Amino acid sequence: MATSVISYRSGPFATVSMGLPGDHEGKTATRVFFVRGADKLALIDSGLYGGLPALKQAFDEFGIERNELDLLLLTHEHMDHVGNNGWLKAETDCTIVGHPARADRVADNMLNARTIVHAFPEGESFDLKTEYLDWMGPTEGPIDTFVRDGEVIDLGGGVELEVVEVLGHSMAEIGFFERSTRTLIIADPLLPPFNPVLYLYEDPNVMRATFDKIERFLDERDVQAVLFAHDEVKTAAETKALVDDCRRRVDKVEDSILTHVKANPGIGFADLRDKCCDDQNMVREWRALVSIDASLKDFQKRGLVEKRNDGWYHVA
Ligand SMILES: [Zn+2]
Repeated sequence: MATSVISYRSGPFATVSMGLPGDHEGKTATRVFFVRGADKLALIDSGLYGGLPALKQAFDEFGIERNELDLLLLTHEHMDHVGNNGWLKAETDCTIVGHPARADRVADNMLNARTIVHAFPEGESFDLKTEYLDWMGPTEGPIDTFVRDGEVIDLGGGVELEVVEVLGHSMAEIGFFERSTRTLIIADPLLPPFNPVLYLYEDPNVMRATFDKIERFLDERDVQAVLFAHDEVKTAAETKALVDDCRRRVDKVEDSILTHVKANPGIGFADLRDKCCDDQNMVREWRALVSIDASLKDFQKRGLVEKRNDGWYHVA
């Protein structure tokens, strides 16, 4: 058999690693997580389409039949987390479980791609196919059952997954806290520092509130381990250090925006995006537009900047 695709195994968990293409190549992988209880087998996220061979191999390595998968639990609607939904649904007939807020996007790959890559006219230069659609399989797997913060998914034998809302990166993102092992599984609310693109957030304040929530959760629940989609497993202490680093990176994006709006009165949205990406040595791509737009809207609301004739001005 080829090299193992299982990158971590502990208690009820087994992690399957899949490399990411494009700007992420060689820098980040995405991970999906099998969680086995006495009664049910769950998979958290389906990964990206390019990782389908790894997912197939994982079933073989575990010696599990495909029809043994009961649940596919989705953290959020982004392409590298839902890419094999359609394949899994067809092969395993699992029940797909997720947050209701972005169910329409999960059910429609084209809508999912358009609403984020082409959310702004400045993003229209990005090719939907290579930037988003190629990361997902040819068929979708829509959400069958909705869950919200605090709900518990019982897999049997004491293995219980509590839904934890962690909004900000996506406004429909959830994580899962496995109670018997006190393990928190989260995808993208805490992005690793080696991520090659600007920190992606849809609302800077909601993002910061989630950083605080995760920090409190680690203490209140005495979390023993945190599993991440794009990073290695961490202790609670290591995760707290990462939370601080994430706060600093979001602050840095916002500092960049204000600095460049001050220095370049009337600066356009795309120019501002390029300058902010350059400051942090990040790739100038569509994700950055989402974060810059979110912060500009917040600054505007707070009276720090204003938009005149399509340009941005600092308000003294
Ligand atoms: Zn994401």
